Amino acid sequence: MLVNGKNECIQCSIDNCAYHAKSEDYCTLEKIKVGTHEKNPTKKECTDCESFKNQA
Ligand code: SF4
Repeated sequence: MLVNGKNECIQCSIDNCAYHAKSEDYCTLEKIKVGTHEKNPTKKECTDCESFKNQA
């Protein structure tokens, strides 16, 4: 659920994403998708936010 334009269930520090709340480290989407670019992910570095969108 969004509260004041941010989703308090999704903390995020990627402030060059178009969906980042900017003033606070939260996502503004209702939900996100997390995935991987690896065949066998074993570290957090292997995971990606697949909802990321570069801000224009
Ligand atoms: S879409 Fe992903 S990267 Fe972008 S603000 Fe939300 S959680 Fe962060």
